[in-house]
Amino acid sequence: MANGCEGEPASCKDAALLDCAPHLVLDGIELVARTLGAESAILAIHDGPDGPGPRLRTLAAQRQGPVPVRVRGVPARYVASEETALVNFLSGGPATPTTSPPRPTDRGVGGAPTLVDNIETLAHIALIARNGAPWFRELGTPDLPGTLLVSIDGAVHTPGVVEVAAGTTVRAAIELCGGPSGHVQAVLSGGYGGAWLPATAIETPLTHTAMRAAGAALGVPTLLPLPSGACGLAHTARLVRFLADQSAGQCGPCLFGLPAVAADLAAIAAGSRDARHAHDRLRHRLDLVTGRGACALPDGAARLTRTALDVFSADLRDHLTGRPCLAAGAPMIFPLEFR
Ligand code: SF4
Repeated sequence: MANGCEGEPASCKDAALLDCAPHLVLDGIELVARTLGAESAILAIHDGPDGPGPRLRTLAAQRQGPVPVRVRGVPARYVASEETALVNFLSGGPATPTTSPPRPTDRGVGGAPTLVDNIETLAHIALIARNGAPWFRELGTPDLPGTLLVSIDGAVHTPGVVEVAAGTTVRAAIELCGGPSGHVQAVLSGGYGGAWLPATAIETPLTHTAMRAAGAALGVPTLLPLPSGACGLAHTARLVRFLADQSAGQCGPCLFGLPAVAADLAAIAAGSRDARHAHDRLRHRLDLVTGRGACALPDGAARLTRTALDVFSADLRDHLTGRPCLAAGAPMIFPLEFR
């Protein structure tokens, strides 16, 4: 199964890839399906009234490949693109994650073993089949060869998707989007379940190893610069609230934990009289939600929050002494809707 659902509002790379190079993705799907001896292949996408479904179905039907590719629309929700949620939905259930094991490779769609790959990976496979592995390794780093599609939004002049060699620095990738539109205080990396990177670490290379060493995450490659003047804690509170709303609400950490984490963060950013208690409660709650969900959503929200408390520690100190953030009520600058 090719996962082109992109359940991350900060990311639009899958949509860009399907728009610009749909046959490359279909080549990759057919190649992998043939290699595995698969009887069928599915391209899963978020499809709406103006979505890419009709065009992709036409293109898939025109091909004479060895394995027919069916294009299936999946609900546009954050967790719907998680691989067990996709398998659940395409097997006739709701688009919500299930506990694993079994992994989809053991029991997937309709009970059959199912390989789930992101469409960017499949496009890379198609290019490697055409041009060879040495060609692919000409760019990137030894532990992450090739290129990355990076979605960039927030405080940049021209938000969009850029293709960069793996190992390109955060700063260089942002420059390809016209550069920052003001002074940047931090960059949110790896999507809404990712991590904040302080502006001092903007020369970090875009690899899993380097981003992890910097305390951040490559994750779904997204970079969201936050301008000075915006409140990082208030933004994080809204992102955690968004994640809570997007969850399947079927596990305790999402149903109870994440709304409480978001409320604590908002209370801190507002410099409320309860801010110190909220901070103590928050640290305890972050420990409680971590590792307790059926999927990784609560862990991502906890990581996002922990890095916010570190990166915006000066703001945190101010708010704990009762000084509210003047920008706490300002509009959200990151997208909270699926594109
Ligand atoms: S952890 Fe949250 S998002 Fe994941 S399955 Fe449970 S309720 Fe759904």
